[in-house]
Amino acid sequence: MHRSPFTVTTLGTGAALPARGRYPSSQLVNVGGGWYMIDCGEGTQERLRAIGFNFQRIGHIFISHLHGDHYLGLMGLISSMHLMGRQAPLHVHGPPELKEIIGLQLRASSTYLRFPMQVHAIRPESGTVLHADERVVVSALELEHRIPCTGFLFREQPGQRRLRPGRVGEVPQFRRNAVKNGEDLVLGDGTRIPNAELTLDPPPPRSYAYCSDTAYAPALIPFLQGVDLLYHEATFTTAMASRAKETMHSTAAQAALIAKEARVGKLLLGHFSSRYKSASVLLDEARPIFPNTELSSEGSEFRVGG
Ligand SMILES: [Zn+2]
Repeated sequence: MHRSPFTVTTLGTGAALPARGRYPSSQLVNVGGGWYMIDCGEGTQERLRAIGFNFQRIGHIFISHLHGDHYLGLMGLISSMHLMGRQAPLHVHGPPELKEIIGLQLRASSTYLRFPMQVHAIRPESGTVLHADERVVVSALELEHRIPCTGFLFREQPGQRRLRPGRVGEVPQFRRNAVKNGEDLVLGDGTRIPNAELTLDPPPPRSYAYCSDTAYAPALIPFLQGVDLLYHEATFTTAMASRAKETMHSTAAQAALIAKEARVGKLLLGHFSSRYKSASVLLDEARPIFPNTELSSEGSEFRVGG
């Protein structure tokens, strides 16, 4: 069965300090041809150039929190969008202070954007809908970090019902959309064919959860139940568990435990401390707990669901 694209591209996988070959947090999410950005660390626009992506296609940017490694690339990206003649609206979703931070920088440089931009203050309680359009619903995941920090759950909108392969011919072309939307078919002589005889349920909506910086937070588990792909930060190994606790980050094993308890499809680790030259030590600690775990890497694309 053909399904529309739902992918995540990890542009940066490093934690707070620069490390060779790693960049700070940023991801691109494609849901059915709509482009969304999550976090925008320093250098994100260069990363987008490196993968040949035209950033004017991004309609919404979601910023998890105001630690620099998650948003210091945002002004540069907005500025480039402006200089390159963007006209399409841009929506930025982030902590309440973000509007003031962006506004001050625009005013100080006498920049009058050529495109409409709206900065939305996030309400961080888990389950709050932050954005919905014809492709996707994005809701908040309340994380536990040193400053307010929000994760994001992307769930695609349910698709149309599918015509049963053996019954397609019975449905006239001009009625197909209505039948796919659940209506019965009424024939010329008044006979009614119930929708259930003609159609099958749509495929279950796919979902992606992004858990940015957070301490081990089991309160998230009910909200992550059954997601197809979970990105969870894994800053440290278990040997550094006390450091993780103190800085309100997670170990790879804690990320795996969340994935296991929430019965997610796949776990993607990221936000690696610069002390680990290779992130494979983190993968080795996660896999015994949750086998279907992968490391994110710069510029890699991951499919959400089957
Ligand atoms: Zn942080």
